[in-house]
Parts: sequence; C-alpha cells; structure tokens
Amino acid sequence: MADEAPSLEFESPAFTYDELEEQLRDYVPQPGTFRHDVASIISIEEGIRAGRAGNIAVGGCLYRGDTLIHRDQSKAIAPYHRTDFHVEMVLLNQLEDQLCDNPRPRMRDYTLFTSQEPCPMCLARICFNQVGHVYYVYRDASSPEAGSTTNWDRLPPGFRGLGSRLVIDEAECSPELKEMSRQVWLNSIGPGVQAFLDRY
Ligand SMILES: [Zn+2]
Repeated sequence: MADEAPSLEFESPAFTYDELEEQLRDYVPQPGTFRHDVASIISIEEGIRAGRAGNIAVGGCLYRGDTLIHRDQSKAIAPYHRTDFHVEMVLLNQLEDQLCDNPRPRMRDYTLFTSQEPCPMCLARICFNQVGHVYYVYRDASSPEAGSTTNWDRLPPGFRGLGSRLVIDEAECSPELKEMSRQVWLNSIGPGVQAFLDRY
C-alpha cells in the first residue's frame, strides 16, 4: 500500500492566533522565576507570524551571551517550499553567514531558542554548528513525532557524540507559555503536514 497517504492525527487547537496573541500580550514575564520567559515569548510571537504566513507555526531567536541578535520564523512552506527552512536552520544560516570565515567563533557563547522541540534534521545541523545551548519552549510527548523519548535521545550515536558538549533541553519558562506555544503549533500542523503530503 505504498501509495496510501500516511494519516497523522493532531488535536484541534483551543484558541485562534488572535486569541493566543492576546494571551501573550496579557502575560507578565516572570524572569526571576522562569529565566527563559522573555526568549520564549519572542519565540512564540515569531511562531504566530510563521503560522499566519502559511508555515508551520514555529519561531525562535538567537542570543550571544545575554544579547538578542536574531529572531525569525519557520519558512519551509511559504512563500514557497524550502523544506529545509525550519526556524533553527533560518537562524543558524544567518549566523553562519555573519561569522563567515571565522574559524573559532566560540559557538558555546550562543543560545538558540525555539518554540518547539527541534526535529532530527535540525538536531543534526545543531551538532555540526556546535551552538552551545538550545532550549525549546514545548515538546509534544504524545505525538508520533516526539513520543516519550526526545528527538535528541533518538539521534544516531555519532551525532550525539559530536554534540556531547551541547546543552539541548526544554526552556525554563512558565507552563502557561508552554501551553501557548503548543496551541500556536496546533493551529498550523494539520494543514502544514497536508501541504507536504500533497507534493507526493
Ligand atoms: Zn527542524
């Protein structure tokens, strides 16, 4: 049955982008309690932009030390299919172009935030790039994509060896932000996956 399209079921979102944007506006960051609240809010805002543009609603940002240097969104579907343009790729492309031929850019000083757990493609890139810290706002432990083990746990050992000094973990943000990130993503994932499958 090779021609039968895979069927992937996703939960329906409980809130629209407008409602989630309002929730985000009303949310008061608690950086004293949750040190990644601010970067998580930026990532979710970018995720909403991605979703509104017709992409899977994932956003992110990049810090050097405590300084925000880039913020951007996933662009794998719109304006046209560039299936490698997950937000991690978009942000690391910008950084690598900027670092250009610097042989020792001290990648350990950089932190990449995303609104969703990076996929295996992006984790492999993260290992090659050596960005020191990666934090994701949300991971869907019940989805076929994530499951009970993280994508990092399931990465081939060679990649995990290459990335053994990297910190890749859930963001320390509030549970409210994690739920907002999940809801943002749920608004886009069904149509997004269908857009990929329609290309078969
Ligand atoms: Zn990815």
